[in-house]
Amino acid sequence: MKRPFVTVDGNQAVAKVAYKLNEVIAIYPITPSSPIGEWADQWYADGEPNIWGTTPLVVEMQSEGGAAGAVHGALQTGALTTTFTASQGLLLMIPNMYKIAGELTSTVFHVAARSVAAQALSIFGDHSDVMATRATGYALVASGSVQEALDMALICQSATLEARVPFLHFFDGFRTSHEVAKVEMLSDEDLRVMIDDDLVRAHRGRALSPDSPFVRGTAQNPDTFFQARETVNPYYLACPAIVQKAMDKFAKQVGRQYQLFQYEGAPDAERVIVMMGSGAEVTHETVDYLVGTKEKVGVLKVCLYRPFSVSHFLNALPKTVKAIAALDRTKEPGSIGEPLYLDVVSAVSEGMTSGEAPFKEAPRIIGGRYGLSSKEFTPAMVKGVFDELKKAEPKNHFTIGIIDDVTHTSLDYDPGFSTEDEQTFRGVFYGLGADGTVGANKNSIKIIGESTDNYAQGYFVYDSKKAGAMTVSHLRFGPNPIRSSYLIGKADFVACHQFNFLERYNVLKCIMPEGTFLLNSPFGPDEVWDKLPKTIQETIIKKKLKFFVVDGYKVARDTGLGPRINTILQTCFFFISDILPKDEAIKEIKEAIQETYGKLGPKVVEQNNAAVDQAVEHLCEVTVPAKVTSDFDFQDPVPAAAPEFVREVLGAMIAKDGDSIPVSALPDDGSYPSATTQYEKRNLAQDIPVWETDLCIQCGKCVFVCPHAVIREKVYDTALLKDAPETFKHMDASWKEFPGMAYTLQVAPEDCTGCSLCVDACPKVDKKDPSRKAINMMS
Ligand code: SF4
Ligand code: SF4
Repeated sequence: MKRPFVTVDGNQAVAKVAYKLNEVIAIYPITPSSPIGEWADQWYADGEPNIWGTTPLVVEMQSEGGAAGAVHGALQTGALTTTFTASQGLLLMIPNMYKIAGELTSTVFHVAARSVAAQALSIFGDHSDVMATRATGYALVASGSVQEALDMALICQSATLEARVPFLHFFDGFRTSHEVAKVEMLSDEDLRVMIDDDLVRAHRGRALSPDSPFVRGTAQNPDTFFQARETVNPYYLACPAIVQKAMDKFAKQVGRQYQLFQYEGAPDAERVIVMMGSGAEVTHETVDYLVGTKEKVGVLKVCLYRPFSVSHFLNALPKTVKAIAALDRTKEPGSIGEPLYLDVVSAVSEGMTSGEAPFKEAPRIIGGRYGLSSKEFTPAMVKGVFDELKKAEPKNHFTIGIIDDVTHTSLDYDPGFSTEDEQTFRGVFYGLGADGTVGANKNSIKIIGESTDNYAQGYFVYDSKKAGAMTVSHLRFGPNPIRSSYLIGKADFVACHQFNFLERYNVLKCIMPEGTFLLNSPFGPDEVWDKLPKTIQETIIKKKLKFFVVDGYKVARDTGLGPRINTILQTCFFFISDILPKDEAIKEIKEAIQETYGKLGPKVVEQNNAAVDQAVEHLCEVTVPAKVTSDFDFQDPVPAAAPEFVREVLGAMIAKDGDSIPVSALPDDGSYPSATTQYEKRNLAQDIPVWETDLCIQCGKCVFVCPHAVIREKVYDTALLKDAPETFKHMDASWKEFPGMAYTLQVAPEDCTGCSLCVDACPKVDKKDPSRKAINMMS
C-alpha cells in the first residue's frame, strides 16, 4: 500500500492517531502538548469521524486533574478515551492514573514530556514529569522522533487493549512535539488492522452498567489490600511480549520494525550508551559515524521503559560490551542515581546472578544526566560520553553539556566534533517572535518535504518571552534520512530577518565557508557594508560568503502588510537557494499563502501574493569589499555599570550565551535579585507610539492594553515641570479630583515591541484627519 508522505510536527502526528482511535477526548492545554488538544478540538468541531465513523467527543475540562477524572469516568462507561498533557499537568493526573491502572483499564495518555518546575518554571522538555509517574502502574513508552511518535501512538493503543495495562506514550517536549518532519502517514486501514474489534468489545464489556451490575472501587482493609495489589502481576509480566507482538504486527502491516530495546551500532561493541527519547536519535547518528571510523560503540534505545523487561534488555545488548553509560534526561536529587541508570544496574546485576546475562564479566556501568529542560544534546556530547567510557576509571553520576564547577560532575568534550551529513542542506533563520518567520519556515519545510524527494526537518527555537523575542529556525533537508535532533552548528545558509540583531548577536557564528547570507536591510547593496559590525564584515570576507540584501519592511509597507515580512524573506530564500525551479517555488509559496491566510479574506491573500512578486524585484546581491571598514562591533548586552550578577549572568543570557554560565554562578534556590528588567532593553520596534496632547481624552485605554507595560500615565504637580525640557509633553489633568495638576502619558521606546495595540485601542480620532488618533505609530 502506498502511504502519503506528509510534513507535520510530533504533536499533529500523535493527534491524528489519538483522534482516530478514541471516542472521548478530555483535554486541558499545557505547553508543549496543547496543540494535540487543539487539533482534536478542531477536528471535533469539523465533525471528523474516527475509524468507527463516529465523531469523538472532545471536552475541555477546568484543569488536568479534571481531564484525568473525566477520562477515568468515560473509561468506566466503556468508551475508548484519551488525554494529552505535560509537566505539572501530568502530576495533577497522578491520583486518577493510580485508579485507572489499578482497575486494569485500557487507555493511552500522550505526553509531550516537559520539565517539572523546581527552582524555576520551565516550559521546555525533559523526562522529569514522566519519571514521576513510574509507580502508577502505567506502561511507559518512549518515542524518539516524529515518525516514531506517530507509529508508537498506534502500537500503544493496540497493546493496551490486549494487555489491559494503561499506557503513557511520551516524546520529548519541543524537540519532538514541535519538530516538523517528513513522515510516512498511517492510513485508516493501518489503524483498523492494528485494532482488534474483539478487544474493543471486551473493553466495553468491562464497563460499569446497570444492565450487568457489579461493584468496582471498593475500600479494602489491611487483611486484603496487599494481596489484591499482587493480583495484577501476571498482566505486567505479559505486557512486554504483548507490546512486541503489536510491534511485529505493525511491521507486517506498515514495514517499520520496532523492538522493546532497539540496538544500533557495532555488533562487537565494547562501549554502549543506553537512553530513550530524541537524544537516542542523536546518539544513533553519532554511533553510525563512529562505527564508520572503526570504533566499537553502540546505542541501546529504550522504547518500552515500563514494565522493564530484564530479559529483553539483556538480549538486546551485545555480548562484547565492557562499559555502559545510562543517560537520563531528568534529575532526582538525593537518589543513588537517576531512574534509567538504576534500572540498568539492577538488570545487569540480576542477569549476572541468574546467568541470563550474555556476557561473562559484568560491564562497568556509569550514569549521567543530559539535556535537562531542552538543553542541547549534540554528537559532540555523545562522543564525550564514549570517550569517558574508554577510561580505566570513568566518572559516575556525571553531567554532560554544562560546566559544573561546584560538585565537578561535568565531563569535558570537544564541541567542534560534528557528524552533520554533507549532503544535507542546513539553513538557520533569525526572526522576531510574531514577525511570521517561524510560520513561513514551517511552510517552507512543508513545501520542500512534500514537493521534492528530500527528507526534511524544521525546528524552531523560541524563548518563553514569546512575542518580541528572537526566534531561530533550523531547517535541514536532503536525500538521506535525518536523525539530527539537535540545532544546526554548521549552516550553509543564514538569514537575518531583523537588521538590529546584527549589533547584538553574532548571527554568522555557525555559517560555513562559502555559505550564503541573506539580510533584511533598510540599506541597499551600495550602502549596507558600512552599517555592519566589524565581526560580521570579517566573517563575510574570511569565509567568502555570498551576501544578499532585501528591504523586507519597504516591500511589506508598499504591499499593505505592515510589519509582516515573512513571505518576502521566504521568497528570497527560495530564489537564492534554488531548491525548486523559481516558477514552481512561487506557485508553492502562493498556495501556502492561500492555505495560511485564506480564512482572513482575499485582501490578505492578495497582499501577500503581491509581496512575493515584489520580493524578487527588491532582492540584490552585495559586491563584498575586500577590506573591513567598520569601526564598531557588537554592543554589550547590559551597561558596564550594571551590578555584577546582571553583567555575569543576566548579560550572558541576554546575549544568548546562557549555556556558558557555570553552575557556581546561578542561585541555588532560584532566588534572583529584583528590578533587573531595567537592564534588558531590547529596542525591537521599527515604529513606536507617539502621544498627541491636542486629542487625548486621558481614558487610559492605551496604558491598559499594552502587554509590556510600556506606557505609563502620571498626574503630578505642575511645579515639577519647572526644569522639564521643552520637548517634554504634558497637558492639564482632566479629573476634578486633581485640579490644577498636569498629566503626561509616557512611552518607553526601548521596551516597545511595535505591536500597535495601544493605537488600535485608542478611541479618540482627529475629526479633520481620521488617520490620526491621540496616539499613533511613527518611525
Ligand atoms: S506598540 Fe503600544 S501596545 Fe505595543 S508594545 Fe508598544 S506601547 Fe505597548
Ligand atoms: S487611549 Fe488615546 S485617548 Fe486614551 S489615554 Fe491613550 S492616547 Fe489618550
